[in-house]
Amino acid sequence: MSFSKLGLCDPILNALTELAYNEPSAIQKKAIPVVLSGKDLIASAQTGTGKTASFVLPILQKLSAEHNQHTLRGKRIRALILVPTRELAVQVEASIGQYGKNLELSSMAMYGGIDSQPQKQRLIWGIDIIVATPGRLLDMAHQRALHFDELEVLVLDEADRMLDMGFIEDINKIIERLPKQRQNLLFSATISDDVRSLARRTITDPVEITIAQNSASKPKIEQWLITVDKGNKSALLSHLIKEQQWQQALIFIETKHGAAKLVSQLEKRGIVAESIHGGRTQEVREQILKDFKLGKIKFLVATGIAARGLDIGELDRVVNYDLPDKVDDYIHRIGRTGRAGASGEAISFVAKDNFRNLCAIETRLGHVIKRKELEEFPVKKVVPISILNFVPKNKRV
Ligand code: AMP
Repeated sequence: MSFSKLGLCDPILNALTELAYNEPSAIQKKAIPVVLSGKDLIASAQTGTGKTASFVLPILQKLSAEHNQHTLRGKRIRALILVPTRELAVQVEASIGQYGKNLELSSMAMYGGIDSQPQKQRLIWGIDIIVATPGRLLDMAHQRALHFDELEVLVLDEADRMLDMGFIEDINKIIERLPKQRQNLLFSATISDDVRSLARRTITDPVEITIAQNSASKPKIEQWLITVDKGNKSALLSHLIKEQQWQQALIFIETKHGAAKLVSQLEKRGIVAESIHGGRTQEVREQILKDFKLGKIKFLVATGIAARGLDIGELDRVVNYDLPDKVDDYIHRIGRTGRAGASGEAISFVAKDNFRNLCAIETRLGHVIKRKELEEFPVKKVVPISILNFVPKNKRV
């Protein structure tokens, strides 16, 4: 079967020929006709199945067909694709650029962690398709930098991952702002109960498509925490590295001083590590990061500030040696793990002093994080069991 049988127009077919896409993949064969028909869709499909093209191609086709009769007003968008991470936003937007190169549609990736001004500037004239992470999108809507009254299509991509990462509240708030009349498409590696409940609230009478699971390519983040007395953290980290034979880890720590100290504590136990923190130049940080990505450096200790703005990519394992104060930082850090084809781990060291932070993080995630205990590291200052609907004192009414 060829792409032309699916009813795609010549400018799109030509772009696909150039990319040497000869035949649609299974998900594309099933999803493209449904999306073109205007129906809602729930598809269980993973990265690597060609799922991006399965929604991007028909969206391009539909938006370009209406393009001549449609003048986009300022700060308006016509299609919104919500994704869990900045990397995925960039990747999906690049695909839109490739598949739509012969069309006159505009697109933009929008994510947090960078200055929002250029993104606002680009929104002024309106944009056909936005690929965004939920937090930044909501920020922009609050600031009235974009309006949804002309939105036609909503895509929730990697819905399970967005829920794992605690984006449910942001997603709900975004959906409340959208016009009732719209097309909804939901893609998820697994259709868990949580995904189903999100779908029920968002999507009307959808067509369901399942593409056979290939468990090897399932991105999965396993989050767990270990309670520990403050003074035992570096011994615990060394123990885990050796005992579990870690090959690599990005270790987040609060202070520059703490980073340097931890590197020397690890070295005393025979573990070679490097650090990036605010005291090192951007150039040195970039170089260390490059070596880390190449595997020349196995263990990298980073302060949150030093890691901000650096392209860290996706990793097998991140460790919150110090639990971050901000819930957003936690979400951002765990989003570094769980790349396609491998499972990722996000491990947090939690001392009694971190209890309030822990409650805030778990409240946002909507579930408690699995706890592990090690006999070798008994805890003197016990961390209480979490309260899920925790409200910080200063926000109590
Ligand atoms: P995705 O599952 O969307 O992340 O896509 C996985 C990879 O498959 C991407 O690199 C796409 O460029 C590629 N791809 C998607 N559809 C096709 C196709 N029909 N033929 C060949 N390659 C494809």
